[in-house]
Amino acid sequence: MPATPYVGRFAPSPSGPLHLGSLLTALTSYLDAKAHQGLWLVRIEDIDPPREQLNADRTIIDSLKAHGLISDKPILYQSTRLAHYHSVIERLLEQDQAYRCICTRAQIKAAGGKYPGTCSMTKLTTTPSAVRYRNPCSITQFNDRFSGLITLSEHEFELEDITIQRKDGLFAYNLAVVLDDIEQGITHIVRGFDLLPTTIAQMNLWQYFSPQLPDYAHTPLLVSSPGQKLSKQNHASAIDNQHALDNVLLCLSLLKISISEASKQQGLSAVLQEAVACWQQGIHFPSHEIIVT
Ligand code: GLU
Repeated sequence: MPATPYVGRFAPSPSGPLHLGSLLTALTSYLDAKAHQGLWLVRIEDIDPPREQLNADRTIIDSLKAHGLISDKPILYQSTRLAHYHSVIERLLEQDQAYRCICTRAQIKAAGGKYPGTCSMTKLTTTPSAVRYRNPCSITQFNDRFSGLITLSEHEFELEDITIQRKDGLFAYNLAVVLDDIEQGITHIVRGFDLLPTTIAQMNLWQYFSPQLPDYAHTPLLVSSPGQKLSKQNHASAIDNQHALDNVLLCLSLLKISISEASKQQGLSAVLQEAVACWQQGIHFPSHEIIVT
């Protein structure tokens, strides 16, 4: 088989079961991958134990499977990658591409909210301390495949030096997500619109490790009212695997993808196949939020 130029992924944090909003994100990344004849991978982002729920990884994986969304490769757990993150940080510190920072959130807020680089000139060795990557800020905009050109002004906090290890010792999401997307050969990132503000920082970090940046596309968020994202944090209810077909049809109707009665009668895999064909015709999201009642 020829090598595929498309590798996508869904990368949930195991902070709770899959809900309708996260199913929609999983489904959009899956449909986009399959519409490009690509691979679709699942990665469990379990590097923040205080935010995690016991066995949520299994629950998420079982739900994905029940909804016909199966990873094309073995699932990668970020918790198996801690030694790698550690050695990358050590290397960045040695090369002075990163530095230790002891500033508190309150100090940064008092300085105007954007980190002013207070610790960047001092060679701190103190621990506990956070570690920040010297952001070259050479990328200030990108073309989001669904939302168009996204540009930052130099004053925005996405252009501050990027925390890659937190003061509590935990590895930062921005570092782990970039290293693992590179490790897994991800070429296309399709994820929720709530992560759009992290993208430019991640690109500035990514280009340090690899010149081949991925294609980004951010999909609409399900909200209960404007600005109120359905999320594990606000206890959006877990999806019921017994109603997988209905759940997928509901997500597709929210995305304005209509499915024929014949496919509905045939079941989940026919529905997913028809959805992939619709996706190939082109997809347009009228807004960054979809209100569900
Ligand atoms: N783990 C992140 C989350 O669950 C998503 C990371 C990503 O898609 O880049 O919000």
